[in-house]
Amino acid sequence: MANGFKPAGRFLNNETEQRNNVCYHKKTGKRIPIIMPVHVLGNMCDMDKFMAIAKQHNLIVIEDSTEALGSYYKGKHSGSFGLMGTFSYNGNKIITTGGGGMIVTDNETLAKKAKHLTTQAKSDSFEYIHDEIGYNYRLVNVAAAMGVAQMEQLPGFIQRKKEIIAFYKKELQGVGDISFQQVSDDVNPNWWLPTIKTEKQKKF
Ligand SMILES: *Cc1c(COP(=O)(O)O)cnc(C)c1O
Repeated sequence: MANGFKPAGRFLNNETEQRNNVCYHKKTGKRIPIIMPVHVLGNMCDMDKFMAIAKQHNLIVIEDSTEALGSYYKGKHSGSFGLMGTFSYNGNKIITTGGGGMIVTDNETLAKKAKHLTTQAKSDSFEYIHDEIGYNYRLVNVAAAMGVAQMEQLPGFIQRKKEIIAFYKKELQGVGDISFQQVSDDVNPNWWLPTIKTEKQKKF
């Protein structure tokens, strides 16, 4: 593609190799353990295809589902396909806590590990003993409370987003060279950010 971006499948087929069921980048010899689909603008990746590619190359899937909170692929929520799903609740997202985010997983060991690392990796709640390098990445209670209240409103936000995209489509479809993002029938998007494509972007 024009910007040098290579589709994941082609990159993996041409530029990586398997040794003992581990994926390596041929040129650098580096191990590639994970692949991260980024669902953009409320739309979702073709997850059947994506999971098949990941399996073929022995890669763990961790989804960046930030822009697809409330979006579904074949009835399954974004962020629930891979080992983990990640969501940012920065100020410009469909819901916000002002900053910070969330990891979802059904792997209990990893959930505990994530909690440990984000709460300073303290191995004893009285003594200041850290069993590894930890971080102060906790979502503070006030922000979390805001997130809970926002989450309750998500269905209403999505409903409004659907009205907004319908309005833009009604008004802009067929005007000049304007086209809208294609959404597959498998995807029920949250329509987080309506976008159009046109050659006259700057002028517009
Ligand atoms: C906003 C966004 C991020 C970054 O989130 P921060 O909380 O600002 O770090 C990452 N991925 C996607 C797809 C986003 O939309």
